[in-house]
Amino acid sequence: MNFTTRFAPSPTGPLHLGHAYSALLAHDMATARAGQFLLRIEDIDQTRARPEWEAAIYNDLHWLGLNWPAPVMRQSERSAAYAEALKQLWTRGLLYPCTCTRRDIEAAASAPQEGAPLHGPDGVIYPGTCRPKEPITTLPIPKDTALRLDIARALATLPPEPLCFTETGAGPDGASGVITTAKSDLLASVGDVVLLRRDMGTSYHLSVVLDDAIQGITDVVRGRDLFEATQIHVLLQQLLGFPTPTYHHHRLIRDDTGKRLAKRDDARAIAKYRAEGATPTDIRAMIGL
Ligand code: GLU
Ligand code: ZN
Repeated sequence: MNFTTRFAPSPTGPLHLGHAYSALLAHDMATARAGQFLLRIEDIDQTRARPEWEAAIYNDLHWLGLNWPAPVMRQSERSAAYAEALKQLWTRGLLYPCTCTRRDIEAAASAPQEGAPLHGPDGVIYPGTCRPKEPITTLPIPKDTALRLDIARALATLPPEPLCFTETGAGPDGASGVITTAKSDLLASVGDVVLLRRDMGTSYHLSVVLDDAIQGITDVVRGRDLFEATQIHVLLQQLLGFPTPTYHHHRLIRDDTGKRLAKRDDARAIAKYRAEGATPTDIRAMIGL
């Protein structure tokens, strides 16, 4: 049976117990299914990624007993592929430049006639300020501006069936099995997402979809916090002609107060437990594996 999964950390801080859970679960699932476990370094945010954090990731994961094939994919080396996909979507008239600041978007979305601003997986849902009446396809793509996906136009190029994926874990409200999103709901619940961040040459959504496809990922194992983003990923897979993997969204590891662990939660860093003499078995016990 073909089963390929991955762990895709960003090298912007120490790995903590939440990362350990995600990586060990994915690795255990791959072992149980005689499949493959890949590592991918998600370092598109070069203002925050540091080589020392990347080195610490390899070190912690090896210490936990994980192995993965080399070479490891690093997103910072994938800009040509991201640019190619953006060009394709641009020439199909599905992208448009957006110069709005976060503040502009919040102001437009909370204008009195708009009611309370709605939130989607990326924060306040974009009210469409920069969306052009007619598609723009002229090359070159303007530089130094963000690009958004025109969701309504994109959906109009696809068959009318709802977007769907198979969930073998569970979403925040326990949803599992085949998860469907009506296309008409997508615009309202997500809005025109950013596919190119001005400072990055890509975005989380675009890079994760392209990289999962090129790495042949059949099963994405990741935290439940990314469940809502999956409908965007399924849409991008359809637009780009990629298969949709199976998704397994897992529970989040929380601290003693019930708060989900954050990047800066150094108190739960694997390195800290290592320094205190914990063993990999202790770590597994702490996170219920
Ligand atoms: N790089 C993301 C993170 O560290 C994970 C992306 C994914 O698994 O889809 O949260
Ligand atoms: Zn805009």
